[in-house]
Amino acid sequence: MSESEARPTNFIRQIIDADLASGKHTSVHTRFPPEPNGYLHIGHAKSICLNFGIAQDYQGQCNLRFDDTNPEKEDIEYVESIKNDVNWLGFEWSGEICYSSNYFDKLYGFAIELINKGLAYVDELSPEQMREYRGTLTEPGKHSPYRDRSVEENLALFEKMKNGEVEEGKMCLRAKIDMASPFMVMRDPVIYRVRFATHHQTGDKWCIYPMYDFTHCISDALEGITHSICTLEFMDNRRLYDWVLENITIDCTPHQYEFSRLNLEYTVMSKRKLNQLVTEKLVDGWDDPRMPTISGLRRRGFTPASMREFCKRIGVTKQDNTIEISSLESCIRDDLNENAPRAMAVLDPVKVVIENFDGETEMLTVANHPNKPEMGSREVPFSRELYIEREDFREEGNKKYKRLVLGKEVRLRGAYVIKAERIEKDAEGNITTIFCTYDNETLGKNPADGRKVKGVIHWVSAEAGVAAEIRLYDRLFTVPNPGAADDFVSVINPESLTVVNGFVEPSLVAAEAEKAFQFERMGYFCADNKDSSPEHLVFNRTVGLRDTWAKIGE
Ligand code: ATP
Ligand code: MG
Repeated sequence: MSESEARPTNFIRQIIDADLASGKHTSVHTRFPPEPNGYLHIGHAKSICLNFGIAQDYQGQCNLRFDDTNPEKEDIEYVESIKNDVNWLGFEWSGEICYSSNYFDKLYGFAIELINKGLAYVDELSPEQMREYRGTLTEPGKHSPYRDRSVEENLALFEKMKNGEVEEGKMCLRAKIDMASPFMVMRDPVIYRVRFATHHQTGDKWCIYPMYDFTHCISDALEGITHSICTLEFMDNRRLYDWVLENITIDCTPHQYEFSRLNLEYTVMSKRKLNQLVTEKLVDGWDDPRMPTISGLRRRGFTPASMREFCKRIGVTKQDNTIEISSLESCIRDDLNENAPRAMAVLDPVKVVIENFDGETEMLTVANHPNKPEMGSREVPFSRELYIEREDFREEGNKKYKRLVLGKEVRLRGAYVIKAERIEKDAEGNITTIFCTYDNETLGKNPADGRKVKGVIHWVSAEAGVAAEIRLYDRLFTVPNPGAADDFVSVINPESLTVVNGFVEPSLVAAEAEKAFQFERMGYFCADNKDSSPEHLVFNRTVGLRDTWAKIGE
């Protein structure tokens, strides 16, 4: 079990505990509200674990709501991927999936209500003028000349906007709040704009679309959300959230709470930047195993449990923070060390010929996990010709080097002790073959005469082993905070993907995609969920055995 059992505690859960204790709420209803304009990333996983986790632990409910008010940037592909990712992480939303666009009729009605109350007006300032009129943090804004239109005029113009009689950018509906507010979001925010765009849910029914701040609070209220949890950049928007709900006729008043977003070193989390990586083909799609997306991490071999555990370990606070990649990696390593079956693969092969072995290929029974007999065993073919890792042989060794050395012995994992007798090299001096002998009395036992053989190396039968493409991943960026670079594309790590051609034991032909194995001494690997087939095996390295930068096998 890699997931810690204890329930997390954090300031939001404390607020919920207090609300339940005081009777302010009798049950908890949260929501996860992604905008379907990209694939979900590990930051979203934090929000998912928080919102769905609360619903689970408090026997409450959590909605999945698509915050879909930007038709130009959104797509049904994203809707589908998001549903998939939430389920894959191990969560179920309550009831039907919600869409903000389901509420477009109601939202329109609330906009009319605000106009009727003299609390919204149709503005005709150009976007540039509007920016100029807004003022700055140190200077108050100015009133738009259109601010004091009559209710009738506003109703008529809003109707025109709705009917497609107004060009994009020519008019918008603004809430009439306070152009001198110290909170910029309260300076008459735009609540509706014209967009002649086909919407993935509502088609061409609408050509005016409500803005996030107007939509979000109303959607929360319509769904009976009790605790509306979002990231800190929406802190100021809480004023507007509350203002809208106070000024319309609606009987539910959810409360917004903010926590700090997850930042992870050596990666970017902004969907705009992730999108750019995909569209400029700097990575192989949203689910490229180097991406911080849920689908990328999944393809890389991360498990849902390891991602939930990661979210638990990082906790929920209001402090800005950047998490080291090694914390994410240690979660998956802890999980796979316990749960991944072992197998053997040679990534940089050099041939071994066992000259005193003339029999047929011999099937050896090897345990799938050193400490878990319940995980069973498998048959691994041992033959006269094998591959071992090139770095596991040296002509001359030293005390620290506990692998195969010319004239010395080493144990082959799950098999016999072999001794390197002589080598053959090509014209460039590269070793092509290591000729060995084996001691056939050493299967599962030490040499009878008390010879000490310390090292153990992995191997694959050259006759029965299967060729495999193996993809080794490194950090996608060369700097810890690529988002801060002038051009984040310029700090992409050119060596973030290395492809090698190796050999794997034949049992791996049946490896299920995404299901990680520990390749003995080499790390954790899983079959690629897109490109691997029994005819052409492709394995992704999920994570190394110790630390990404640590040398393997020392
Ligand atoms: P971007 O700004 O890159 O488009 P976003 O935050 O707008 O991302 P949404 O789809 O709106 O993306 O996010 C859905 C939910 O996930 C929101 O409640 C948001 O606060 C939360 N979320 C997004 N990114 C993170 C993150 N890095 N850490 C924690 N929560 C996040
Ligand atoms: Mg957003």
